[in-house]
Amino acid sequence: MVDLQAQYQRLKTEIDTAVLDVMASTRFIGGPEVDGFRKDLEAYLGVKHVIPCANGTDALQIAMMALDLKPGDEVIVPTFTYVATAEVIALLGLTPVMVDVDDETFCIDLNQVKAAISPKTKAIVPVHLYGQCADMEGLMKLVEGTDIHVIEDNAQAIGSDYHFSNGRTVKSGAIGTIGCTSFFPSKNLGCFGDGGALFTNDDDLANKAKMIASHGQSRQYVHDVVGCNSRLDAIQAAVLRVKLPHLDDFAMRRRAVADKYDAAFAGIDQITTPVRNKRSVHVFHQYTLMLNGLDRNGLKDFLAENEIPSMIYYPIPLHEQKAFADSDSDRDFPVTQKLCKSVISLPIHTEMEEDQQNYIIEKVIEYVRTAG
Ligand SMILES: *Cc1c(COP(=O)(O)O)cnc(C)c1O
Repeated sequence: MVDLQAQYQRLKTEIDTAVLDVMASTRFIGGPEVDGFRKDLEAYLGVKHVIPCANGTDALQIAMMALDLKPGDEVIVPTFTYVATAEVIALLGLTPVMVDVDDETFCIDLNQVKAAISPKTKAIVPVHLYGQCADMEGLMKLVEGTDIHVIEDNAQAIGSDYHFSNGRTVKSGAIGTIGCTSFFPSKNLGCFGDGGALFTNDDDLANKAKMIASHGQSRQYVHDVVGCNSRLDAIQAAVLRVKLPHLDDFAMRRRAVADKYDAAFAGIDQITTPVRNKRSVHVFHQYTLMLNGLDRNGLKDFLAENEIPSMIYYPIPLHEQKAFADSDSDRDFPVTQKLCKSVISLPIHTEMEEDQQNYIIEKVIEYVRTAG
């Protein structure tokens, strides 16, 4: 699905030097690389505070802790997403309130959010799925003047620009109350292990998140709140510092792959190519097709026989997972239910070669012609 090896080979000299420097310094925790990466990312995102942490799931958890969400508080979340988003809500004793997604962008549906808001709603977590933003303008307008926080799950969309109707452009993750991201190796900005970060423009919230990520510590051995231990280590920060200046180029390369797939599949009735939201620049973490009347398993098997990987993100919605079974299992989520049965993601990455992609396209079309 991704070619991390080829990307490493392209940046090897720079990355090896950066990692070896950390090893020579023996500053493995904190230190100048973590600080430097934090500042580089703040500048790139145009956000006041970046708080690095151990992974994207921790980032979501720390955000909810820093916002003082308490057991019984309701947090609205799309049911069509990776499990991490809802997991931390439940782990903190909060109540996940699941809603359906938009049938074009596959991101949280604003009308469903409106219907789900109750006096107990304390936060909404839009997930910028597959690499483009949810309707953030609508969402920010909806919570204006209320005490409902917006926590952006930006694990799949780092680097995406969001254009507001008044002409203002803001990076994804820097729009809501607080944003969270993951540097898992296959994410658009991936390190060589686990990593994550939070972003916010709110000074108090940033201090609190920073304190929580470090055992609730305000000064050494002084613990003001109950926190956790969630750090980005210096080797990961060094890798990320090398990669960050390439992030826009990575997105351009991914978009070029997406453009070519779009053009190749444009005339095929059984395939719906990704709909691009006007406001948000798609960074194509995934290239996900919706199949109409095509046997998805058949296509997946046919591609596998031809040594082409493909993935289903996501086959089971959160509300149907055993872990969350008592929350919303009896409700209806028609868009999510349809997507879980019909989506399939094709390989997309920064190192895709023309003949590789031509081969994938040729095999998808061959399947449509024979099976469809
Ligand atoms: C990857 C991902 C996460 C979790 O990130 P980790 O670093 O793996 O903990 C959370 N939400 C979404 C939407 C993701 O894709």
